[in-house]
Amino acid sequence: MSSIKTDVLIVGAGPVGLFAVFELGLFDMKCHLVDILDRPGGQCTELYPEKPIYDIPAWPSISAQGLVDKLMEQIAPFKPEFSFNRMVSSLERLEDGSFRATTDENEVIEAKVVVIAAGGGSFQPKRPPIPGIEAYEGTSVFYSVRRMEEFRGHDLVIVGGGDSALDWTLNLQPVAKSVTLVHRRPEFRAAPDSVNKMFALQELKELDFQVGQVTGLTGTDGQLNSATIKGPDGEVEVACTRMLPFFGLTMKLGPIAEWGINLHENLIPVDTEKFETSTPGIFAIGDINSYPGKLKLILSGFHEAALMAQAAKRIVSPGERIVFQYTTSSTSLQKKLGVA
Ligand code: FAD
Repeated sequence: MSSIKTDVLIVGAGPVGLFAVFELGLFDMKCHLVDILDRPGGQCTELYPEKPIYDIPAWPSISAQGLVDKLMEQIAPFKPEFSFNRMVSSLERLEDGSFRATTDENEVIEAKVVVIAAGGGSFQPKRPPIPGIEAYEGTSVFYSVRRMEEFRGHDLVIVGGGDSALDWTLNLQPVAKSVTLVHRRPEFRAAPDSVNKMFALQELKELDFQVGQVTGLTGTDGQLNSATIKGPDGEVEVACTRMLPFFGLTMKLGPIAEWGINLHENLIPVDTEKFETSTPGIFAIGDINSYPGKLKLILSGFHEAALMAQAAKRIVSPGERIVFQYTTSSTSLQKKLGVA
């Protein structure tokens, strides 16, 4: 199988992983980021996109999603590559000292340096309390959409009332044979615009919205046939060959615990000069690391990324002199940023 080759593999595309691309890019290092989520931003995008953050230097107030958008703009000149919807499941060291990471989709990424910017660990979906749901997971029940084509022509039941549930209801409606959205209340936590669009499609009978909860599933050998929905007026049975429950996410350390790096209370201890882990060449920045005085703040992660990048450069380009430069006055840095 062909592998992706890069200078630096960044595990986690939260705000700190994103800013690391900038600091590494100033030293000419190419980055490939992997995130289990389907978009960049980590906690900012997933947990509080619309909340204003007040302690980002020089931004008296910026929404969490706004910060992620700005970071994406800032790192664009360095053309980072992303693998979304992928979890880095294993990490091994090769004989030449570089690293080989494998994702849960068996993609292989080889890098000279690994930066773990995995925050609180991997976001994992909460399983809804539907009896027997385990038997259909991975065949008919999915907790994320990796390829929309997998839902083409299916009777799809989407459960939940947040942005993920509404976004996928709208995106998959043209692809699926039928879409039934199930939420326990007629009020939603999702963006009002999405909710309005969903109700408009319901008016046109292009999808069905049911108030209630899924209480039972029928099918054989992992293939779903129907779902029972219990609502205020009793039970209804709807055709269901694919189901997407969106009941929120919890954070678990996940496979990082098996990578042979020293851990302390599910965090990765690092030094404060380079933010390197117990394994040379593997760095840990942002919420995932620990050191005396650590503050789990975005700005701390940004500082850690800057120092890590200097140490990473020594590994990626051994022997090359590292020159400290300001972006304001260095024409060479400005060229890299596309402004000179
Ligand atoms: P994260 O944002 O957690 O991103 C880590 C990413 O790594 C995730 O996207 C995850 O999916 C991915 N990942 C993990 N493991 C794997 C794996 N094995 N494979 C692939 N991907 C993986 N901070 C502030 O500075 N100011 C604030 O005002 C503030 N307010 C907050 C409000 C709330 C409600 C919350 C929850 C947090 C707040 N924070 C605030 C904290 C801030 O969000 C975190 O410090 C910041 O998100 C940490 O960034 P990170 O990039 O280290 O990790």
